[in-house]
Amino acid sequence: MDNSQSQDSALMQLANERKQELLCDEIPVPFLDLPAQFRNLKIEIDAALEPIFANAGFILGPDVSKFEREFAAYLGAKECVSLHSGTAALHLALLACGIGPGDEVITAANSFVATAEGIEFTGARTKLVDVDPKTCNIDPSKIESAISSKTKAIIPVHLYGQAADMDPIMQIARQHGLKVIEDACQAHGAHYKDRKVGTIGDIGCFSFYPGKNLGAAGEGGAIVSNSSELAERVKLLRDHGSRKKYEHEIVGHNFRLDTIQAAILRIKLRQLDVWNQARRDCAKYYAQVLSSIDGIEIPSIGNELEHVFHLYVIRSAARDEIQSKMGALKVQCGIHYPTPIHLQKAFAHLGYKNGDFPVSEVLCNTVLSLPMFAELTRLQQDRVAAALRRSVS
Ligand SMILES: *Cc1c(COP(=O)(O)O)cnc(C)c1O
Repeated sequence: MDNSQSQDSALMQLANERKQELLCDEIPVPFLDLPAQFRNLKIEIDAALEPIFANAGFILGPDVSKFEREFAAYLGAKECVSLHSGTAALHLALLACGIGPGDEVITAANSFVATAEGIEFTGARTKLVDVDPKTCNIDPSKIESAISSKTKAIIPVHLYGQAADMDPIMQIARQHGLKVIEDACQAHGAHYKDRKVGTIGDIGCFSFYPGKNLGAAGEGGAIVSNSSELAERVKLLRDHGSRKKYEHEIVGHNFRLDTIQAAILRIKLRQLDVWNQARRDCAKYYAQVLSSIDGIEIPSIGNELEHVFHLYVIRSAARDEIQSKMGALKVQCGIHYPTPIHLQKAFAHLGYKNGDFPVSEVLCNTVLSLPMFAELTRLQQDRVAAALRRSVS
């Protein structure tokens, strides 16, 4: 054996030992590893923050408009207005469409509550629709029966990073004269056919909450639109109804994205496609290593969709037991979401009851989100699979 061969075999042995060690449950697998992401970007982030502090340009500094242009270009949208959060994006998108008291807005029962909060904060009423059992996204065939003379808009949610079925949704909206506001808070860079989500309806809403596929180092959000008029209205609403300091055209709010977040988002946006591909590769590997495990169902992906796997969601009737066993084996999982919107106390005034949206209710009792992030290693995934195999039996 020459020197390099013996080095190779020593490395192989080390790799094998490491694999054994990981499979032995010694090392926890986190649900998300943001420090790992930061370690890869530290030099760039440090360099970007320095001038912001040096010039004290913390509010609407040059990075904010640069990020807006870059994010709009990335998605293929005409306009982007950055905001303080995804919830603010949903709220202001609805206000910009003129929606308020007396109006109704349709959305999915199986989503994060922020989608419905955006509606309720305009004074409009939330009308829920059940989801498709395969994709977990709003079921277009159930939308029309929820439309009344008061309905003004539909908010499809691209849940878990997979596009809702936009063609039939857009067709229904056109027939009934409704606005479409996309909740793309979990789907930065996901495609529906040849377009990126967020650019198909009238307005697309994004969140840059740290754990999202494109995440800030704090709060952040944005709307995108091909309508300059709608974007202009959101821009007024986010900054006290003002174009010029101390001149206020309408009653607005303070929903601005701060410059530090914009600078960090510009750096991360350059990585987004690589990260999304890494997530898809992880999903492919999960599909391989999980396929032989009985008692679980892995996510199904629609044709013509490019899923960005914000979450990798499996299903099992024994979800609660599996989650607690996985926790004991130091593999951290999540549930998105344990309670559908219509069964939340905050939305009791909508008058829905248990049994109204059976698909969403079953999902809430069976879904389990496995660790998923761009830096997730195959070894960590092997660990997840090994823990899952032990937890289902
Ligand atoms: C994260 C999220 C939001 C809200 O975004 P924030 O930035 O946390 O306000 C809205 N809708 C969905 C589907 C989300 O996942």
